[in-house]
Amino acid sequence: MEEKKQRAPLISVEHCSFAYEGAEAPAVRDVSLSLQQGEFLAVLGRNGSGKSTLAKLLNALYLPTEGRVLVNGMDTADEARLWDIRQCVGMVFQNPDNQIVATMVEEDVAFGLENMGVPTEEIRPRVQEALHAVGLEAFAQSAPHMLSGGQKQRVAVAGVLAMKPRVLVLDESTAMLDPMGRRDVFSTVRRLNREEGISVVWITHFMEEAAQADRVLAMQDGAIKMEGAPRVLFSQVERLREIGLDVPAAAALAHALRQAGVDIPEGILTPEEMVEAVCRLHWNA
Ligand code: ADP
Ligand code: MG
Repeated sequence: MEEKKQRAPLISVEHCSFAYEGAEAPAVRDVSLSLQQGEFLAVLGRNGSGKSTLAKLLNALYLPTEGRVLVNGMDTADEARLWDIRQCVGMVFQNPDNQIVATMVEEDVAFGLENMGVPTEEIRPRVQEALHAVGLEAFAQSAPHMLSGGQKQRVAVAGVLAMKPRVLVLDESTAMLDPMGRRDVFSTVRRLNREEGISVVWITHFMEEAAQADRVLAMQDGAIKMEGAPRVLFSQVERLREIGLDVPAAAALAHALRQAGVDIPEGILTPEEMVEAVCRLHWNA
């Protein structure tokens, strides 16, 4: 029984649809997915494909118009569990500046806890722990507006972490950052996933980020069109292009070379793997 409980998905989306009021077509249609404990799931899709709407269904910011969402067994439509659901599934959004509410980093991270009514003596250690987890303990007393975009996003992540969620949902949280900030935020969240076992839903349009997920979903017109491990998904170059998505640069090059008759293996994702494959060609020639 215990074992069975542990294997149940943390989030289970069952045939969910969602339509905005007055909209002609639903923004999310008949989506089913499950997120396992400790999993790092990336969600891809062009603008307007329904990614943000799906994200908001995951922690009861929106309720499905059809189907249901279970978070750790709790139905998001169950108002009595709203607080537990929001505490379990933390969200980080795109614009770091819209998420900062205080004039000092540690106050900002404490904000959610204060709202939750966490006792004052418990707040400080939790804030410190959360800042440590994102590598910003040295900035506890800094003014958020002095930080880089990537650091601000890590403050936002810390604010969510302080609530001790089981799942982090990040909706294009690297979209407004420079390449360094992007890497910084991505690697922080990837590490939290690996080391702390926090499950992650990583919404992005950067293929290189999705390539590092455990599993990738690709959406189009509100529906999930493709799903699989990055190596499997990104080897389906033509299908991805049909739904308006690209593949990581190394995978695209590998595909082009294979099409030109060069003997390159399938499943290449990174520049390093590409280099290795090309070197092997050279040795075999
Ligand atoms: P994505 O995050 O993939 O860009 P969204 O979930 O934001 O996609 O949008 C999905 C669809 O829903 C789009 O057609 C978009 O125009 C529409 N939409 C998004 N937000 C709203 C809203 N607040 N009201 C009405 N329609 C919306
Ligand atoms: Mg969006």
